Amino acid sequence: MNNPHATVLTINLQHLTHNFNYLKSKIDSDTKFMAVVKATAYGSDAITIAKHLETLGADYFAVAYAAEGVALREAGIQTPILVLHPQPLNFKTLIAYKLEPNLYSFRVLKDFIAVAEHNNLKEYRVHLKFNTGLNRLGFDPADIPLIFELINKTTSVKIASLFSHLAASEDHNERTFTLQQIATFKELSHNFISLLGYTPILHQSNTSGILNYPEAHFSMVRTGIGLYGYGNDPLFDTKLKPIASLTSSISQIHTLQSGESLGYNRAFIAQQTTKTATIPIGHADGINRIYGNQKGFVYINGQKAPILGNVCMDMIMVDITNIICQEGDMVTIFDAKTTAASVAENAGTISYELLTSISSRIQRKIIT
Ligand SMILES: *Cc1c(COP(=O)(O)O)cnc(C)c1O
Repeated sequence: MNNPHATVLTINLQHLTHNFNYLKSKIDSDTKFMAVVKATAYGSDAITIAKHLETLGADYFAVAYAAEGVALREAGIQTPILVLHPQPLNFKTLIAYKLEPNLYSFRVLKDFIAVAEHNNLKEYRVHLKFNTGLNRLGFDPADIPLIFELINKTTSVKIASLFSHLAASEDHNERTFTLQQIATFKELSHNFISLLGYTPILHQSNTSGILNYPEAHFSMVRTGIGLYGYGNDPLFDTKLKPIASLTSSISQIHTLQSGESLGYNRAFIAQQTTKTATIPIGHADGINRIYGNQKGFVYINGQKAPILGNVCMDMIMVDITNIICQEGDMVTIFDAKTTAASVAENAGTISYELLTSISSRIQRKIIT
């Protein structure tokens, strides 16, 4: 979108290359690399990111929904794409765009086989997801005999992979639980392979799984947040480089006298003379209201300026009482130094949410 705006999300593809190489260095050379580019590549720009990762040699892409995969195909992406959360109403589209579904229940498995047979497909690549403890999507390991019976009766589909998802791979206090998930996945894939007679790709690890559980790499890993520069751990955060910086500029400066209020619902009342700057970014842009009332902050000329009062739809106001600055000066909401993880944590949320919330209204600028 051609959308000149003072507020810009700048995406650094050199940082993406760095993160890809770092994550690759953590896995064996024969372990496949699936890049997760759902939710506009974690709020950045899915097409640009996927094209760059395709040139770097990503083996697979993953998206959440069919339409995200369609957009990648229309942009010319040739690499296999797994759709993590397909729905039967999208099955024809998946097939038309050579997108590979995650089949996670008997309903979707039977529906997909019916559509595949109806279209005379042969060995269409599908992926089976098993629930090993997240209790979100996936078959129960006890479903294996019945799944095999259905698959064995048709030549329309081929099992490209078996996979599962870890619930707490970033949480060292949940190590016992995670090791149990890994053991469950090992056992169920062993059982399934002995029925199938061939070995599909096996994958269970997200970014934190890659970094914390080498025993769970299997034959492919799936990484999202790590590619975008976050390791869910101070140790790994120092090795990765956030690819996105969100910057803006000061629209106007006001001086409040003691007792004057600021913004909607008069949520901030000045206790002393207070200088404020109005910035063109608000909750419609992904700066959620939880960042209001000094839970969030921005940086202006290297100094921290807390958000005062409520976040508006299109604007925030920040405290610049002790900052030398003027209208038009640059404002940093997050970048590679003041990271989205630290900004989010301060407000009780996570980098994933802050990054994926940055709305399409904000201009994306790519630097190579
Ligand atoms: C989003 C997602 C991932 C990526 O997780 P990160 O923590 O961002 O690496 C991997 N697998 C599944 C099933 C997902 O939904």
